[in-house]
Amino acid sequence: MSVNQQAHTGPPYGQPQPGYQGYQQPAYGGQSLPGVPQAQYGAYNGPMPGYQQPVPPQGYFPSLGFPSKGSPVSLNSDTSSLAPNFIGSLRAPPTSGAPPPASGASHPSGPLAYSQFEHGDVQNGIPASAAPVQRPPASQPFLPGSAPTPVIQQYGAPPASVQQLRNHMAGMTIGSTAASAPPPAGLGYGVGPSSYPPTTGAPRPPAMPGPPLPGQTVAAPPSSQPNHVSSPPPPSTMAGLHPGPPMSGLHGPPPPTHPPQPGYPMQQNGSFGQMRGPQPNYGGAYPGAPNYGSPPGPPPPPKRLDPDSIPSPQLNELPPQQKPRHRIDPDAIPSPIQVIEDDRNNRGSEPFVTGVRGQVPPLVTTNFLVKDQGNASPRYIRCTSYNIPCTSDMAKQSQVPLAAVIKPLATLPPEETLPYLVDHGESGPVRCNRCKAYMCPFMQFIEGGRRFQCCFCSCVTEVPPHYFQHLDHTGKRVDFYDRPELSLGSYEFLATVDYCKNNKFPSPPAFIFMIDVSYNAVKSGLVRLICEELKSLLDYLPREGNMEESAIRVGFVTYNKVLHFYNVKSSLAQPQMMVVSDVADMFVPLLDGFLVNVNESRTVIASLLDQIPEMFADTRETETVFAPVIQAGLEALKAAECAGKLFIFHTSLPIAEAPGKLKNRDDRKLINTDKEKTLFQPQTSFYNNLAKDCVAQGCCVDLFLFPNQYLDVATLGVVPYQTGGSIYKYAYFQLETDQYRFLNDLRRDVQKEVGFDAVMRVRTSTGIRATDFFGAFYMSNTTDVEMAGLDCDKTITVEFKHDDKLSEDSGALLQCALLYTSCAGQRRLRIHNLSLNCCTQLADLYRNCETDTLINYLAKFAYRGVLSSPVKTVRDALINQCAQILACYRKNCASPSSAGQLILPECMKLLPVYLNCVLKSDVLQPGPEVTTDDRAYIRQLVTSMDVAETNVFFYPRLLPLTKADVDSDSLPAAIRNSEERLSKGDIYLLENGLNIFVWVGVSVQQGLIQNLFGVSSFSQISNALSTLPVLENPFSKKVRSIVDMLQGQRSRYMKLIVVKQEDKLEMLFKHFLVEDKSLTGGASYVDFLCHMHKEIRQLLS
Ligand SMILES: [Zn+2]
Repeated sequence: MSVNQQAHTGPPYGQPQPGYQGYQQPAYGGQSLPGVPQAQYGAYNGPMPGYQQPVPPQGYFPSLGFPSKGSPVSLNSDTSSLAPNFIGSLRAPPTSGAPPPASGASHPSGPLAYSQFEHGDVQNGIPASAAPVQRPPASQPFLPGSAPTPVIQQYGAPPASVQQLRNHMAGMTIGSTAASAPPPAGLGYGVGPSSYPPTTGAPRPPAMPGPPLPGQTVAAPPSSQPNHVSSPPPPSTMAGLHPGPPMSGLHGPPPPTHPPQPGYPMQQNGSFGQMRGPQPNYGGAYPGAPNYGSPPGPPPPPKRLDPDSIPSPQLNELPPQQKPRHRIDPDAIPSPIQVIEDDRNNRGSEPFVTGVRGQVPPLVTTNFLVKDQGNASPRYIRCTSYNIPCTSDMAKQSQVPLAAVIKPLATLPPEETLPYLVDHGESGPVRCNRCKAYMCPFMQFIEGGRRFQCCFCSCVTEVPPHYFQHLDHTGKRVDFYDRPELSLGSYEFLATVDYCKNNKFPSPPAFIFMIDVSYNAVKSGLVRLICEELKSLLDYLPREGNMEESAIRVGFVTYNKVLHFYNVKSSLAQPQMMVVSDVADMFVPLLDGFLVNVNESRTVIASLLDQIPEMFADTRETETVFAPVIQAGLEALKAAECAGKLFIFHTSLPIAEAPGKLKNRDDRKLINTDKEKTLFQPQTSFYNNLAKDCVAQGCCVDLFLFPNQYLDVATLGVVPYQTGGSIYKYAYFQLETDQYRFLNDLRRDVQKEVGFDAVMRVRTSTGIRATDFFGAFYMSNTTDVEMAGLDCDKTITVEFKHDDKLSEDSGALLQCALLYTSCAGQRRLRIHNLSLNCCTQLADLYRNCETDTLINYLAKFAYRGVLSSPVKTVRDALINQCAQILACYRKNCASPSSAGQLILPECMKLLPVYLNCVLKSDVLQPGPEVTTDDRAYIRQLVTSMDVAETNVFFYPRLLPLTKADVDSDSLPAAIRNSEERLSKGDIYLLENGLNIFVWVGVSVQQGLIQNLFGVSSFSQISNALSTLPVLENPFSKKVRSIVDMLQGQRSRYMKLIVVKQEDKLEMLFKHFLVEDKSLTGGASYVDFLCHMHKEIRQLLS
C-alpha cells in the first residue's frame, strides 16, 4: 500500500466528494506535516452562516457546475473546519490514517466523478439531500478561547510597549560594543530578561568573552575593528545622526562636517542605468511634489502614541565639548522578534477571513487559518500593499513598489479547503467577452441576471443560457453560495479542449531520470544511491485524487560523454541499453519501451536499477555532456507527445565535445568590478534557446548538482530556471553526511504537486496593469508567464504600474489565472482573485503595507539587477529607494517632530533591518568563502521563493535550545540575530531555510553536552556531525523534534552543521548573525539604521 495514499477522512454528509480529490501532498517538508494526511476537498460551506436554502424559482435552470459534482453544501454556520493550525505532534491526524479501501468506493475517481452528474441532472443547485446541517466531526471543532495554542506562538516575553522606545533615547551612543555601559533596564523591543541569562555576567557583553585560542580566527569584538570598512562611525561622525546642511524651516542640527561614511558611498542619483529604482533628480521632487497626505498627516492609529518614532539623541543642544560618546541601544531599535511575536499574539488565534477588501493578512511567521470568503488566501497571493495609491503620481512619490507574490499551487494546511473544481461541461468557463477575465465574485449581474458587467474592464457580457440564474432582492444570484466562482477567491475550472495545445487533450506527463555515470558520480557512491532510492520512490509518483496508481510514465537515461537509453518494456526479461554516441544531433533511439508504466514494468525497472551501478562500477570516464542530456529528454517527450519533467543528476562542468560544451570561466577577480555581472550570466546563449524549446514542449527540468569544483551554475541553471524547474546543489557530496539530505530533497521533489505546460496571466481592473514579472519561467510576450512545470513551492512575483487613475470606491482587482495540466493529464484553470483598496491619502498606503512582501520583491528586483548592473549600483539603488519610501512617509504622514528623529511607519519599521540583510547577502556582498556557483545558485533560488522563505532566509531564526521546555511542544522564544545575544553557557539553533546550525557555547554544562551529543565534553563534540545522535533523554528528544519540525516547514531539507564556539566553523555561523557587522563589510543593524536616517534627512532637506 502506498504511503502516498490519502487517509480517508470520510466525505462529509455522505456525499460523493468533488471529483477533484486534491493533489497528493508530499510527505516531506513543505507546509505539510510528515505523516499528517492532507485535507481532502471538504464540504463547501457557504461563506455566509445562516444562509437559507432558496427554493428554486420557476425557470430555475439546472446548473451544470459545482453543486452538480456532488459537493455538499452546508447551510449552517460551520466553523468546524476552522480547527487551529496545529504543528507537529500536537495535532493528531484526523483519522487513524488508514488508507481508503482499495476499491475506492467512497472516493470515486476523478473522471468518474466528472460524469456522475451530467447535464440535466436534477440534483443541481442545492441537493435536498445536502440539507442536513449536522456535519460529521470530520475535523476538529473550533472553539475560540479553548483552542490549543499553536506551538510556535508560545513566546514568553509579553509585547514590550513601543511607547518605551521614545523615553530613553537621550544618552544613547552609536557603537557596537557593550562594554562601556549597561543598557537601561526595561527597554522596549527587548525579548525579555529571560533571554539574557545571568551567566553572561555583564549586561550584553560580547558573546565571546573567552580569549581566542592561538591560531583561531575568532572575530574580535566589533569595537576592536577600527579598520573595518563599515565600522561604526567614529565619535566625530556622530553627527551622522544629524546630518545635512542647515535647512530652512526644519529644526535641524548644526551643519556637520562629517566625511562620507565608510561603506556607504554617496548616492549616485540618476546613474542607475536601465534599472528601475530611484528616480533621477529625486531630490527636487519632494519640495514641489503634490502632497497627497494631509499635512501634518493623519495621526497614527489612536492606540499608539507615536509608536514608530525612534528619536535620536538631541546632541545639538549640548556644547560640543560636553557631548558624550553616544551609542544607540540595540534594544531600542525595532526588533523583528518583537514584531513577529506581537503579530502572533494579536492575529494567530482567529481565522483570517477573506471577505473584506484590502485586508492586510497576518505575517507569514504567524500561524493562522484562512477562510476563503471571496478573496484568495494569502497563501496564494501576498501584496506589498493592500491599499494602493489612486494615481501614479502618488505611487511615484511614495516609491512603494506595488507587487504581488503569487504561489498559484501553494500547499494548504490540512484544515483548509483546497480549491473546488468547477466543470461547466463543453461550454467551458464563463468569461468576459472583451478582456476574457473569468467569472469571479466581483462580476456584477444586471438585467435580472441576463447579463453581467466585467469588474475588470466594465464590458457587459450576455450570460450564457446554461449559466442563467435569477437575482435576489440584493442583486445577487440566488445560487451565489453554491458556486465557488461566485463566492470564493480561489477555485478551478475544468478546461475544455479549446484550452489545450493543438486542440487535443493532453496525455499524462512523464518523468525521465537521467543519471550522470561518470567517474566522480560512481566513485562517490551517488549512482548506487540514486538507483537504490528510485526502486522505492517510483511507487510514490504524484497521483490524482484516489487513483490507484500514478498516470505518470517513467524513463531512464544514463550518460557521461555519451548517452545510454534503456528499454524497460514490460515484456522484456531484461532491460536493453542503447548507446547514442553522436551527441551533436541528439535523437531518441527507441520509442516503444522507453516511457513505461511503473507497475507494468516493475521487474524490468528493478533489474535495470540493480544493474546500472554494476555496469559503470569501473568507469574511467571523467568527462560529461549536459545539453544533449536535456535534448534527449526533450525529444523523448516530443515523441511521446506529452509534457513531463527531467530529473538530471549531474556532477561536473560539461567539457566533453558536444553542443552546450562549457569552459571554466570562474574569475573571482571580477567581483566588485563592472564585469561582475558576467558571473551571473550564462556563458552561452545555447541554453536559452534550449529552454525555449523545452517550454514549448512542457519539458520541465529539475537539476541535482554534486560539484567538487566550479561547474557554472549560472549556465547549467538556465534551462531549469526558465522551465519552472528546481536546482539542488550538494557541494563536495559525501555519502555519509549528505545522503539523507539529498534523498529527502529527491523524495519531496518527485512527489510534490506539480502542474505542466502552464501559462499564467494576471488581469487587473482598469487603472493598473502587470508590468514586470520575477520567477522561474519563460515569457514570449509581455503578458503570459509560461512554465513547462510549476510546482507547489514556486512563486511568481508580479509588479503593477498605473496606467490610469483608480478610485477609492471601486478599489483594484487582481485575477491570476493559471492554465495547466495536472499530473493525471487533466487540463485545468486555477483562478485566484484578490481585491485591494485604493487611497488618496499616502497615510493609508503606509498603514497597509506588508514589509515581508516588500522585502521579497526588493530582493528579487535586486537579484535580477545584478545580471545587468554592477552590484554596487544595485545596492545603492535599493538603499535609495527605501530611503525615499521612508522619507515620503516622514514628510507626508508623520506627526511633526524634531528633524533629529528617525520616524518609521509602523508596518515598515523592520524595513531597515531587513533591507540591510538583503544588502549583506551573498549575492550582493559575498564573503571570500562564497563561490561564484553559490551566488548563482542563491540568486536563482531566491527568485522563486515565497514570502515566508525570503523572511527566514534573510533574517534567520535563532532559538536558544537550552531554554526549550522539554515537557511542552512549544519552541523556545526566538532571539535576535546578534552575537551579543548568545551566551557561552547555552546551545542555539539557527535556521535560514537552507541550513540549520547548532551552536554550542564553550561553557555549556557537561550534562547537556552528554545528553545532546553523547560525548562527555565540549572538546569531544565532532563538528562533522550532519545529524544529531538519537539519544534517549528528554533534551535530545526535544531538540531533535524541533529540528524535525523545522525541516518539515521548509521546502528543502536543511543541512545541519554543528558549530562549536571559537571553532573555525564559527566564522560561517557568524555570517548569519545578521544584526552584527559582517566580516565582509556588511553594516550592523545599528549602523545601517543611522545610515538610513542620514539618507532620509538628505532627501528631506
Ligand atoms: Zn472584462
